[in-house]
Formats: sequence, C-alpha cells, structure tokens
Amino acid sequence: MEKIQNPKKPHIIIIPPPFQGHINPSIQLTLNLASKGFIVTFINTHSTHHHITKANNYKQYDDVFAGSGLDISYRTISDGFPLSFDRSLHREQFMVGRVHVFPAHVEEIVRELVDLEPRPTCLVADTFSTWGYDVARKYGLVFVSFWTQPALVLTLYLHLDLLKKNGHYDSKDNSNKDTIDYIPGVTSLKPRDLMSFLQETDTSKIMHWIIHKAFTDAKKADFIICNTVEELEPGPISVLKEMQPIYAIGPLFPSHFTNPAVEMNLWSESDCSRWLNNKPQGSVLYASFGSYAHSNKQDIETIANGLLLSGLSFIWVLRPGIVNSDVTEVLPNGFRENVGNRGLVVPWCKQNAVLSHSVVGGFLTHCGWNSILESIWVGVPLLCFPLVGDQITNRKMVVEDWKIGINLCDDGKLGSSNEVAQRIKLLMSGKTCYELRKNIEQVRKKLENALSGNGSSQMNFDKFVTDVKAKID
Ligand code: UDP
Repeated sequence: MEKIQNPKKPHIIIIPPPFQGHINPSIQLTLNLASKGFIVTFINTHSTHHHITKANNYKQYDDVFAGSGLDISYRTISDGFPLSFDRSLHREQFMVGRVHVFPAHVEEIVRELVDLEPRPTCLVADTFSTWGYDVARKYGLVFVSFWTQPALVLTLYLHLDLLKKNGHYDSKDNSNKDTIDYIPGVTSLKPRDLMSFLQETDTSKIMHWIIHKAFTDAKKADFIICNTVEELEPGPISVLKEMQPIYAIGPLFPSHFTNPAVEMNLWSESDCSRWLNNKPQGSVLYASFGSYAHSNKQDIETIANGLLLSGLSFIWVLRPGIVNSDVTEVLPNGFRENVGNRGLVVPWCKQNAVLSHSVVGGFLTHCGWNSILESIWVGVPLLCFPLVGDQITNRKMVVEDWKIGINLCDDGKLGSSNEVAQRIKLLMSGKTCYELRKNIEQVRKKLENALSGNGSSQMNFDKFVTDVKAKID
C-alpha cells in the first residue's frame, strides 16, 4: 500500500459503484479534492480493477493515480462475487450481493484505514449506496453523498412520499395519468417521464428496497454533492438547498482538469481518429448506449437498418453485453458489408475524443447523464433513445426543457427503420438541426461559465471544501 505523504492533510475515502457512469465523475472528484489539499483513498472492486487492467492489456496498472502526482492512494476490495461471475448478465443477483455482501467488505477496509495516520475523517459514497450512511456513522466519519445524475431526478427520489400519496409510485392503482405538478421545484412532469424504476408496478424487487434505503439515508447525509450545474437546473437545486447542504459542482469530466487525465475504462478503446479524420465537418453521427443499459435484438436491428437507410456516416458503440448475445449476432445479415467505410462499429471508444472531433454533428444516445453533459460541452445535439432509470427523465429535459435534442421515438416504442432514418436526418441537417445547434450553444455557455473562475460550480466546490474541512476540524 502507498504511504500517506502528509500527515496533516484531511483524509477522505471515496468508493464509487462499479459502473462507468459513476466511476468517471468519481475520478474527477478525487483529483479535484486531492488538488485542494485532501489525501484521498479511492477504492475500486477487484472486478472493476480486473476489467480496467484487462482493457489496458494488463500493462502496469497497480496504482491508477500514480501519474497525477497527488496524494491519492488506490485500493481494491472484493464485491463478494468471483471474477468469473457475469455481473451484467445476472444483474438482479449482483444487486442483492451489493446490498447484503458488499457492505462487509467495505467495513473491513474502512476498519483498516481508520487505524492509519492521518485517520480518515470523511466518506464519500454514491447516493445509491445503501451502506454509506451506516458505515460513516459507525466509524465516526462525515458522510458525503455523491449524486451523479440530474438534480431533477434527485428531487423526485427525495419526494417518493409525495409521489406515493398522489398515486404515481407504488400505488395499487397505477393508472393515475395526471401531470405531476406537486413536487417542490419541479414545474411539471408526465408520469411517463418518471425514472423507469418508479414506473414499475412490482415494487418488491431489490431495486425498490435500494431506492427506499438510499434516499432515506441521503436525507441524513452531512453533505450532498451533485454532478450538475445550478444554471441548468435552478428550480430543483433551489429547493434541494432549502432541504440540506447541497452543492452543484458539475460537470465533472477531464476537460477542465489540469492534471493528466486518469482513465479507468472497463473496456478497451478502439481508436477512431484515423477514420474520423477523413470525414467532412459535422457529417458523422455518433451512437452509443452507455455502459449499463441493455437493449434487445429487435431494436438494435431496427436502428442498424435506420443507420443504413439514412445514408449518413456513423460510429456506433456496441459494447459487449448490450444484448444478451454476441453483438455480431444481432446486427442484420450483411450489415457491415452494406455499410462499408461509411460506418464504424466498435465495442468501446474514447467518447470525449470522438464527440469533440469536428466531424461529429449528432449523438444518438441512451441519455446517460454523463453523455448528455459531455455532448453539451462540445455543442453536439442529441437524438434521444432512453432505456432505463434516470435516462427516461433526462430525455424530457433534453427535448422539452432545453430543446437541444429530439426523440428517436415518440411514445417510448421504436418505430420502423424508415422512421429512425428520418429522425437521424432531422438531427443532422436542415432547420431542426440549425435550431438545436443554436440552443445547445446557449446551454454550453452555462456549463462553461459554471466552471470559470467565479462560476457557480467552481464557487460551490470551494464552499464544499471549506465546509467539509470545518466539519472535520
Ligand atoms: N463512454 C466511453 N466510451 C464509450 C461509451 C461511453 O468512454 O464508448 C463513457 C462516456 O464518456 C461516459 C460514460 O462512459 O462518461 C457513460 O456514462 P453515462 O452516464 O453517459 O451512461 P451510463 O453508462 O451510466 O448508462
């Protein structure tokens, strides 16, 4: 284990969930905190570590943060499953393990760390973690709940009682289609725009237990930090601020950080730059459905045929496991031959590099929150195909509130390949495209301003650092 360099600095433990969309902002948070004088111990699971070293061809990757030159220690712990267990395929079983087995492994390492000098005084755990609050209290640590989705989604989860009372969650009669206009800070929302978990009628699943416990605990957190921007979501954030100490410190991604980026990709990245360099400005559609969501063979086929029919160039990330079979089996017969050099299908790529390339003019996305922020950052409009969780709610903001994207399908069900092709063309050129690009430029400026010297996220982060240090002292 790496030696702690400076015994006077406050020591903070960060344990992200083993998903790319949570790991990425946690890395940035780690670097940002360490650059403000914290010692950070960053803890991955053995399985996550195994995936990232495999993605790096097993090159020396024992101390992921070594290159940062900051006071960061890197540790790994078991999640209770063997490395060979397919966590994506057996998701329900994995979730049960995360609730009932993983916390014991967390406790084990926290017990070890609190014997160190300087003793850790603060624990940062994802808001969805069901163990963060209990472990922090047991070991006398300040509990920081880290929220990696929009503030709107957090507000909705924190008002489950109101949703339930009004028959929009966990109701015997799930037919209340009235607009949701009673949540503080939320103007209005259709029930179909609620996070997918809240729309489920079977609330006996483990996910519902997790939601209940996690958001009960979040209300007791000493601090909540959010990977969002005040100017993007003023309504929900102002209400959340009245509820408890909360800081919007986003967007948390490498582009604004001076240290060399630390990367923890779970899959190895294909280099798309040579292919991209040969395409005209703004002509390429980038398509990716993130690291977690599953799709199905039929939808993948429809999208593949839609891409073909659109006649446009594209890069499509089809990660292993997106459907429960080999991805090559889900593409229509002859797809690659028919596409030729017009399209590139890869298992994983450096998304930020692809999105920021000047030839990329649109993003067909599952509406993961990181993907949305990254696309706004480079001014690339979105074609929305939400699949699960917050992605459903995020779509509403992109299409209806900020008007920086359009729907791939209107009622949540994918139409024909022709319709898909039509939507792709709408996104990539013509009047709609022009409007979307104009709007996204306005939103992009909000993100840029937030991260500037006196910007809201910068100020909020500084205030968080001051407040957490004061609480520790
Ligand atoms: N990502 C990447 N390469 C890919 C696809 C995704 O680096 O080929 C990154 C992307 O930049 C983002 C994260 O993976 O930071 C996905 O997070 P998001 O919240 O968009 O979706 P999730 O995976 O959580 O559903």
